[in-house]
Amino acid sequence: MKSISVRAVRTLKVLRREIALIRSRGESLALVPTMGALHEGHLALVKLAKKKADRAVVSIFVNPTQFAPDEDFSRYPRREADDIAKLAAVAADLVWLPHPAEMYPANFATRIAPEGAAQDLETEFRPHFFGGVTTVVAKLFNQVTPDLAIFGEKDFQQLTVIKQLVRDLDMPLKIVGAPTTRARDGLALSSRNAYLSDAERQIAPALIQILRDAADRARRGGNVHQIRADATLGLLQAGFTKVDYVDVRDADTLGPYQSKSRRKGRALAAAWLGKTRLIDNVGV
Ligand code: AMP
Repeated sequence: MKSISVRAVRTLKVLRREIALIRSRGESLALVPTMGALHEGHLALVKLAKKKADRAVVSIFVNPTQFAPDEDFSRYPRREADDIAKLAAVAADLVWLPHPAEMYPANFATRIAPEGAAQDLETEFRPHFFGGVTTVVAKLFNQVTPDLAIFGEKDFQQLTVIKQLVRDLDMPLKIVGAPTTRARDGLALSSRNAYLSDAERQIAPALIQILRDAADRARRGGNVHQIRADATLGLLQAGFTKVDYVDVRDADTLGPYQSKSRRKGRALAAAWLGKTRLIDNVGV
């Protein structure tokens, strides 16, 4: 039987050599950035990458600069060997595992400060987050030099902010959004679902159910203030312990949703089940 393997690269020097080899063959390249603890949602992104380009590079890097000191950086799940085996099984071509000291050497001193779509929603609760994400993603783009990069709609504000980054800074690649992979009961797959107790896991699908209801009401021209209030109450009644936000926004700008404008909307939420923060969203 042919053994399935994928090349894992840990230094920028070797990465650049591998990328040059791919380019010398005239092949196109897609990047899928991840923080590891891979599930079917991540693997769907890799499969899409393989459809859209000759070669797929997957980065695994738990990026310290997008976590606040009180967040879950140290306990974020790390399963490198398992991740590499899963990536081999979906025929990824290269796994890029940068070392934190090479990503952020002692004299590192530059940070991107996104505004626009990055203001509000997640930023109200995680003010450091999109600065950390856009900075590491810009570094990954410069390291891998992909023709396209794939991001999940699961993190819809992140996808919007990355599109804005690429447009604003004239980065020469295309950003592709991929639909959210869900469990049978609707819960969006997430590395953080591993934190949920059995009882919390039972409650968790209420997040997408309530978002779908909010999206339906917005589609029918419902009042966004009322939808927001009802959805917040619904989440608390379902057993969520805290609601950071629920809102219906314009799907392109993430500004206010105008129900009569015929523009696309997006219902988005972040809520806590005990110590675990879940986010999800759905189209209006
Ligand atoms: P993460 O490792 O959680 O930072 O996610 C890496 C990439 O996978 C991001 O582009 C996410 O939006 C995407 N992703 C995470 N969960 C899902 C999911 N359930 N379906 C589709 N994409 C996802």
